Amino acid sequence: MTKKGRFTFYPDDPEQVLRIKRFLMAAGSYVMWIILCTICILQGFTLFSFYDLIGLSLVVITVNVIVYGVLRSGLNKRFKDPSLTMPQMMLGTLWSMICLYGAGEIRSSMLMLYFVVFVFGVFRLRFLQFLFLSFFAIVNYSIVVYFLHRLHPYEININVELINILFLATVLPWFSLVGSYITKLRATIAKALETIEKLAVTDELTQVYNRRRLLEILKDQKAKADRGAKSFSLCIFDLDHFKKVNDCFGHETGDIVLKKVAGTIHQNIRDIDSIARYGGEEFMLVLTGTIESEAMMFAERLRELAEKIRFDNMGDFHITVSIGVAVYVPQEGFQTTINRADTALYRAKENGRNRVEIERKTESKQLYLF
Ligand code: GH3
Ligand code: MG
Ligand code: MG
Repeated sequence: MTKKGRFTFYPDDPEQVLRIKRFLMAAGSYVMWIILCTICILQGFTLFSFYDLIGLSLVVITVNVIVYGVLRSGLNKRFKDPSLTMPQMMLGTLWSMICLYGAGEIRSSMLMLYFVVFVFGVFRLRFLQFLFLSFFAIVNYSIVVYFLHRLHPYEININVELINILFLATVLPWFSLVGSYITKLRATIAKALETIEKLAVTDELTQVYNRRRLLEILKDQKAKADRGAKSFSLCIFDLDHFKKVNDCFGHETGDIVLKKVAGTIHQNIRDIDSIARYGGEEFMLVLTGTIESEAMMFAERLRELAEKIRFDNMGDFHITVSIGVAVYVPQEGFQTTINRADTALYRAKENGRNRVEIERKTESKQLYLF
């Protein structure tokens, strides 16, 4: 709830931030209503006095503070719909009911309050929920009309009110239909956005991260290590003699081999580690919080794993990988670490392939002229 002990208006969770922003929009509508009601009272249009308004406004402010407290504390996450859209909209409808009761001859204009409430439904509500709320609003309004008719018969024209109820009973279900369509559309767009975001960071063939995501991960890891977190290690692995696979079995089989090797290694790394396709048949592993000895052990395990992979309908055929390891040294550019891992990989190839090599940072040589 607090950052370094200090209270912050928004929580860290982006979903909660969105919910609080929506709540603030609703709170803005309450402010708008209070201003409108004040104008109506000043113009002598309503049954309410100024003191009634102050009392009601205090209730509204208290309820809103409570709703904010529920959202800010995370208590809302215990509910099926953590946005609390329905309860918030029902509260808005009840508040409209009170305003409408005291609205006097401008009651018909005040009916617009219902639409201010209903607009919030397009963020979340499904058709049946919208219909339920329409029903709730119409019943509310009918209760208002009933009590006015009983208690203030001279303040009300029952024929006009019946027409008002007819309008509500027609327009609110219609709004429900359109509103729920927009809700569905929002859900479809959100899903499409999720797919686009995944595609933007995924390598199409192997389904591991692409270079773009790799660079983001490296930036993030560098920032953490530079701030004092345990350093990370890089392993670049390259499939040995892969050209021969393409030449002997065809490019399509080559693709299958690439996919299977990347997929198997992906399944065998920790959740906190990442694998990305760095080039054609070269992949990069980013090992979070991993020192040299651990990285070497890890790389050796992967080398053995790759050797054991067997492919459908390819008999005993197997592939080997060469791996270059480098540990990030705080404050250096991560490209420098990549270059060291590349040098190590080159050496692994030179020394016979199917092996792991490491390249350590050497102290830069001082050149003394005197
Ligand atoms: P080395 O052991 O020295 O790494 O030998 P190599 O044959 O693996 O390396 P070389 O760089 O000579 O060839 C890499 C081959 O990888 C050539 C290229 O056609 C193939 N390759 C790169 N990307 C893909 C791909 O997406 N699919 C397939 N099937 N082959 C690919
Ligand atoms: Mg190769
Ligand atoms: Mg290569």
